[in-house]
Amino acid sequence: MKQILTIIILFIVGGCSTNPYKTSNKTYKKQAKAYGKLLAKYPLSDSVTNSAYFVGTPNFNLRRPNFVILHHTAQNSCDQTLLTFTTAKSQVSAHYVICKDGTVHHMLNDYFRAWQAGVSKWGNATDINSLSVGIEIDNNGFEPFTEPQINSLLLLLDRLKKAYNIPTANFIGHADIAPGRKVDPNRYFPWQRLAQNGFGFWFDTTGVQLPMNFDAMQALRIIGYDIMKPDAAIESFKLHFVQTDSTKVINDDDRKILFDLEKKYQ
Ligand SMILES: [Zn+2]
Repeated sequence: MKQILTIIILFIVGGCSTNPYKTSNKTYKKQAKAYGKLLAKYPLSDSVTNSAYFVGTPNFNLRRPNFVILHHTAQNSCDQTLLTFTTAKSQVSAHYVICKDGTVHHMLNDYFRAWQAGVSKWGNATDINSLSVGIEIDNNGFEPFTEPQINSLLLLLDRLKKAYNIPTANFIGHADIAPGRKVDPNRYFPWQRLAQNGFGFWFDTTGVQLPMNFDAMQALRIIGYDIMKPDAAIESFKLHFVQTDSTKVINDDDRKILFDLEKKYQ
């Protein structure tokens, strides 16, 4: 009797709760299936004139992401962000969203291209969306990140780094790749802690002697920053490496930091 009652209760609860993301889940599956079909296509549809000469090779796999881009959501809750990313007209998405309690929502297969980086550049790399996994962390932009969030993030980064063999240097922020346009993740983001765990580099200026001809802007460029707008590049650099300083001025301490970092990131 107790068992029957439990089943009835489960049935009622199950029947009443509707998944608010049912529609977007359905759309996701449909789109993923269509891409699966496209990948399986031969003769190759993008090679119409040469299709008669199609010769399949067995030696291939899928292209892999080589960067991880970190963001803060600049929204007030995880639910708000999930709603934004499941609404077609927003035209924005990410592979993962990490809530304040540490919950990780996987929204998109890592092999697919999320719409998270926008117009961006890092070194010679453009179209970062095609090269990266995007992780959004629930944060309004003006507050510290929570311990459960960072713990979940570190576990996720560890998995991604191993799965796709992502270089240590390639864990960067949205502000790093879009100076003057983006400022996320904010100054509270624990980049040093990430570097200590193998995600990005940190500096050590102990005993650093600057060469006479040291060029700080060139160092920023070597690290990866787009220096087209020098002030914006400095702002992004400080958001990541000198978080207590909101000026756009490079002082002697910064020069030493840049001298050390350019060797690690080059
Ligand atoms: Zn962002």
